[in-house]
Amino acid sequence: MSAMHARDDVFAAGEPGLAYHAPRDLEEALALLARYGEEAKVLAGGQSLLVFLSQGLIAPAALIGLRRVPGLDGIEERDGGLTIGAMTTQHALESDPTLRTRYPALAEAAQAIATPQVRQRGTLGGNLCHANPTGDPPAALIALGASIEIVNGDGARRVPVQEFFRDYMEPALQPDELLTAVHLPPPVGSAYLKHRIRGVDNAIVGVAAAIALAPDGTCSEARIGLSGAATTPLRAVAAEAVIRGKPLSDDTIQPAAEAAAQECDPLDDTEASADYRREMVAVFVRRALARAAERARQGDTE
Ligand SMILES: Cc1cc2nc3c(=O)[nH]c(=O)nc-3n(C[C@H](O)[C@H](O)[C@H](O)COP(=O)(O)OP(=O)(O)OC[C@H]3O[C@@H](n4cnc5c(N)ncnc54)[C@H](O)[C@@H]3O)c2cc1C
Repeated sequence: MSAMHARDDVFAAGEPGLAYHAPRDLEEALALLARYGEEAKVLAGGQSLLVFLSQGLIAPAALIGLRRVPGLDGIEERDGGLTIGAMTTQHALESDPTLRTRYPALAEAAQAIATPQVRQRGTLGGNLCHANPTGDPPAALIALGASIEIVNGDGARRVPVQEFFRDYMEPALQPDELLTAVHLPPPVGSAYLKHRIRGVDNAIVGVAAAIALAPDGTCSEARIGLSGAATTPLRAVAAEAVIRGKPLSDDTIQPAAEAAAQECDPLDDTEASADYRREMVAVFVRRALARAAERARQGDTE
């Protein structure tokens, strides 16, 4: 019996007061969501949801498992970019050759998550819907200019990834909606760096940078995503403006790093103070921009 079926049977056997559904297609999953509304929770890899459930932080009437729904898993080249299914595991992201060479920020962010065990089960969609401000993939997706596909019984909509994070651990998702895919535009030079104390920790600060170069070597486009730097994953737009259109050197990267430290509003918690996080934003934005610029120069995205 596979692990998937073993888990399905555990729920089917009946947790008191908790119904478990394993829909066979998207239509059935959406119909269940419409039926239960706020009483249901979608189950992806379970790495965050089951922790909340076991700690009594949530008490849904039903779980709707997505593992048997076809078409939600996998990485596909489309329109010069990539489409990644919501149920693609974090392990699949870190080990995919296309991501590692053309979108290294996302492969590096996936690799920075917790442990191999978590990454084997945890999915990209689940990570985004959990909307933890210290999560790693959100910062990478902001830098890469990703958009998110959201579906309900009436159709689909797409939102830029930074608009998906409405508030602290609150995604812009209605109870009848599913996140089905993430779309990435054509690649540019990118990098993700994570600052943490122990190897399995969440980020004190995580920084992703993406850089495109003009033929004369100046920065034609820059995007910077931050984790641990606000109550939601954050796009550092002021810092991006500092380097856009300029040559990339210490003289331009350092002021951009300082601008990022100014525009963020970091978390202040038991892991790190807001002041320390702000200082680390400057340090890691500088390093991530330098690495992304180096990759853009080497054309590492082809
Ligand atoms: C010990 C540990 C350490 C961790 N460390 C890190 C870390 O360093 N960095 C990091 O980024 N993450 C970390 N995580 C979180 C991990 O990445 C989770 O896998 C992830 O947050 C949730 O993904 P999941 O597929 O397990 O989703 P689940 O736990 O199944 O679901 C999470 C939430 O998203 C909702 N949901 C899931 N999929 C969808 C969908 N397609 N549409 C709509 N709603 C959906 C669920 O209803 C639930 O509310 C850690 C987790 C653990 C247990």
